[in-house]
Amino acid sequence: MDRPRVTEQEWETFLGVADRLEIPVRELLQKDVRFSVLEAAAHQFGRALARETTERLAGARAERAEVAYNCPTCGRRCPVAHKERDLETLDGPASLREPVCHCPACDRDFFPSASRDGTVATEL
Ligand SMILES: [Zn+2]
Repeated sequence: MDRPRVTEQEWETFLGVADRLEIPVRELLQKDVRFSVLEAAAHQFGRALARETTERLAGARAERAEVAYNCPTCGRRCPVAHKERDLETLDGPASLREPVCHCPACDRDFFPSASRDGTVATEL
């Protein structure tokens, strides 16, 4: 299998993260257990990292949002606020920081991040 490999230094960093997340990867290095137990811990760790990555990517995207967007219904310019939104991702629950606008004329919220160039109104 030809794929980039994790260095020993990177692996040590991973083990430290797994320790902090209380996923017993380091402990399993010393145990004789069924393969399914090893695989389950690996998946738990991978999913935790995937959720963290998703949250950080969404947060970075939220930071790049404009200061205001046009309401998709009436076109009024609406200031952006940020809101945490719980989302069930492929890897489990994540809390995403997203830009959200409220149009006082339409009395509705919309997420400017729902599309690249425009907006999609979403009931909150
Ligand atoms: Zn509006």
